[in-house]
Amino acid sequence: MSCPRIEVDLSKIRRNTQTVARRLGPIGIGVTGVTKAVCGHPAIGQAMHDGGALGLADARISNVQRLRQAGITCPVTLIRTPMLSQVDEVVQLCEASYNTEIAAIAALASAAIGKDKVHGIILMVEMGDQRDGILPENLADIARQVMKMPGVVLKGIGANFACLSGVAPTASQMVVLGTLANEVEGVCGPVLKTVSGGNSANLPWALGEQTTGRINDLRLGEAILLGVEPVSGDRIAGMHTDAFTLVAEVIETDAKPTPFSVALVDPTLARLRILPTSGAATRLILAIGYQDTDISGLSMPAATTLIGATSDHLVVGVNRCALETGSEVRFQMNYSALMHAMAAPDIAVKLLHDGSARQPRHAQGKPEHLTLV
Ligand SMILES: *Cc1c(COP(=O)(O)O)cnc(C)c1O
Repeated sequence: MSCPRIEVDLSKIRRNTQTVARRLGPIGIGVTGVTKAVCGHPAIGQAMHDGGALGLADARISNVQRLRQAGITCPVTLIRTPMLSQVDEVVQLCEASYNTEIAAIAALASAAIGKDKVHGIILMVEMGDQRDGILPENLADIARQVMKMPGVVLKGIGANFACLSGVAPTASQMVVLGTLANEVEGVCGPVLKTVSGGNSANLPWALGEQTTGRINDLRLGEAILLGVEPVSGDRIAGMHTDAFTLVAEVIETDAKPTPFSVALVDPTLARLRILPTSGAATRLILAIGYQDTDISGLSMPAATTLIGATSDHLVVGVNRCALETGSEVRFQMNYSALMHAMAAPDIAVKLLHDGSARQPRHAQGKPEHLTLV
């Protein structure tokens, strides 16, 4: 079987989406599934949609293109403010986009008019993450300008937290976002369909609050894909954390003497001291490296330790080695490892439990898993 590969359990993605959607729905919040960490993989986007995500979102138009080419027709939002050089594709492929620059909005408007379309605009407000966003004091004015432009329609406002700053949003920031929505509507009328509170880092707030005010959307990537809350790294109750598994192949075993355990601990001691070894009796070399993924984001399987990695090799220590050349070793990944591995050209993606409605009939009953690369 193709190695290295990522095995994706689509049923776990579906169930994770279902779990958050069922918890957020009753408090008035819809789920937008974010596909950027999986490069807009269509089957994964479809699993999010099947699990109850109302729409999908991605930061890159190339990923949106991949979703569309695979036949995904649900609303897709671009959640990074568009490049001027890509407005035609944005208008063609996305129902709406997050925006912070009036020049980009004007370019979207003129592209939309050229295609006889109306493009949705969601204004991104800066609320402390210090990444992209319109300052709150400028929001109403920009909203008013958008209202006057043909070709675009003001659909909502949104904020983002914990990406650049790593600081999770507070309940009072969510109240402020709601107040900003009211202010915009005071100027523009009741036009804001979407008030998007943020990303996976908002879940502790959303699941802990009795009232979520005007917030009616969250954009969730990491929580659905990995089942964890990004700021703490904690597992979210009821969610699967093992939808993705990275599988790498052993290309060498036990070819070295016990790891060199001699080191000059303190040069001033002018003598060598023997350090305890890592305890690992055998070293395995695997055919995967920094070029494929963020090695520090892999969790080592039980009874193995990470010795080191280079661009194309990963060295792990094991105490008792039942593995031989050609054996496979399985790793869980954090967000950074997942994101890099999904984009690596040499890593195949193997889909498990692809029960999506879009699958051709003859493939559905097969125990054999479908592989799409
Ligand atoms: C990446 C991103 C998200 C999704 O973040 P997760 O932490 O994966 O849920 C949401 N909104 C914006 C603007 C993003 O860039």
